[in-house]
Amino acid sequence: MNCEIMIETQLERGQQDELLPLDQYDKVLIAESAGKDSMACLFHMLDLGIPKEKIELWHQSIDGGGEQHTEFLDWPVTESYIEAVGQLYGIKTTYQWRSHGIYGELLRQDSLTGDVYHLEDGEIRHWPTTRGKRSTRRRWPAMSADLRTRWCSAYAKIDVFARVLSNHPDYQGSKEKPLNILVVSGERREESANRARYHEVELHRCSNKKRRVHAWRPVIDWSERQIWDVYEKRRFLPHPAYLLGWNRTSCFGCIFSTADLWAMMREIAPDRFDRLVRMEKELQHTIDPKWTLEEKANLGSLKRLPTDARLSRWVELALNRSFVASDLIMEAWELPAGAMRGAAGGPG
Ligand code: SF4
Repeated sequence: MNCEIMIETQLERGQQDELLPLDQYDKVLIAESAGKDSMACLFHMLDLGIPKEKIELWHQSIDGGGEQHTEFLDWPVTESYIEAVGQLYGIKTTYQWRSHGIYGELLRQDSLTGDVYHLEDGEIRHWPTTRGKRSTRRRWPAMSADLRTRWCSAYAKIDVFARVLSNHPDYQGSKEKPLNILVVSGERREESANRARYHEVELHRCSNKKRRVHAWRPVIDWSERQIWDVYEKRRFLPHPAYLLGWNRTSCFGCIFSTADLWAMMREIAPDRFDRLVRMEKELQHTIDPKWTLEEKANLGSLKRLPTDARLSRWVELALNRSFVASDLIMEAWELPAGAMRGAAGGPG
């Protein structure tokens, strides 16, 4: 099957299914973006008593990793935040990426999509892309709920996750003794009309005769307030993006960012913002069909950014890779500046 078709097939929503009793799963893989909903999934798995040895945090590094890293769209802190979470709870963390991440795919020119990599315990595995259609991208992902045109999620996250799960020797099982794998992710129905239609439990597309994989969205019917309540219970420091006023955490330069978020990015990380501006000019294609990035940022406001001494502390944390586990538990918990601001600026 060629790579383009394979990705489209993988994007079809799975068939609705029912969970097994939780103790029958051999591994519980949490698709961990470091955002509030996937973190709530982790807290919930711990509260349900799932043994830590079975839980793994799988993070797709959207700027790539190792020698295939290009700083472009992501928050620099994210991988070290997830690493710190894993250390705090004694849970395995793993990282997957496509070569040079979204940057590499954006600049794809008459070539196959990039290879896929997986990092675990300092060891990198590599799956070359050998099949598919040579093609040229050089267009930003569309601001659409349709994953066929919003290619960033498909090529940098969904397909990368599936390639690793389908090929990594530790997740294969056998016909005689199939593995039961639970893939947990944090979509919530409250976020959009599209997500409102998601099933809570599906047979995951990586299932086969040797491996039964269920996709479970355990917080699908939670409200945002419930999500923050589980942070408060643990006095847990949210990803610094929330502390700075972002209402969602995934890519720093998410294509869905509102005018306020672009203005805030330009304020705290002008070099990163300028890089995207230059890329729009190079491609002669804008992220938002209505405005250039500069025009959109000019429409935004900085009022969400903290105005006290915490601003420099949170900016320093967000733009560095030095987050440590001792940063994670707050002395006094407070709702971050980005909380309860709705789902605007996120995928549909
Ligand atoms: S966070 Fe935004 S830019 Fe990043 S992969 Fe998702 S939709 Fe694309």
